[in-house]
Amino acid sequence: MIVIRHPEVGSAATAAHYASKPVINAGDGVGEHPTQALLDLFTVVEALGTLSGLKVAMVGDLKYGRTVHSLTKLLANYPVEFVFVSPDILQMPKDILEVVQASGHKYTITEDVHDCISDSDVLYITRVQKERFTDLAQYEAVKDHYVVDPALMERAKQKMIVMHPLPRVNEISYAIDNDPRAAYFRQMRNGMYMRMALLAAVLGKA
Ligand code: ASP
Repeated sequence: MIVIRHPEVGSAATAAHYASKPVINAGDGVGEHPTQALLDLFTVVEALGTLSGLKVAMVGDLKYGRTVHSLTKLLANYPVEFVFVSPDILQMPKDILEVVQASGHKYTITEDVHDCISDSDVLYITRVQKERFTDLAQYEAVKDHYVVDPALMERAKQKMIVMHPLPRVNEISYAIDNDPRAAYFRQMRNGMYMRMALLAAVLGKA
């Protein structure tokens, strides 16, 4: 088996085309991160018991964040509602929005997280992907656009979760870490279990 993380979009697919062994995409540049999507989905179901009818807000760098690309495509198979929250220059790529649209889902695009904080079931926030910017001044301008802090969490539902693929930079205040709605450390642990299961399945040992 080959597990490949590579800076180029499509690199894992190219490897899979030529390799005689199974290939797992562990992140191809700004493209996709499918194993993260699996563990994200598992984390939501574990925490909220269902996917049906959930309002999922994805917040932050939706342009370069590969985890939100894969998660959106995966969630488009389920009856959820999407809200995409980002600065204008970091909006969700068109091809991903097309998948959402083609699957008949409702979605909203906004720059303001306050538009959706009070009725979201999942708040999935990402770091701004500094390494993808060619102009660092642009990164500086947007890097602290969203911060999940106690004031924001006061407006959120009691039964909801905050997720993050980690590593976090400044976008979630440490004061949230002990809030029962903070799911990001459980999410990380689920990543280990999910990948163990995936390796076992690919090796025929599941
Ligand atoms: N760890 C995630 C990834 O590999 C998220 C991130 O780096 O921000 O894409």
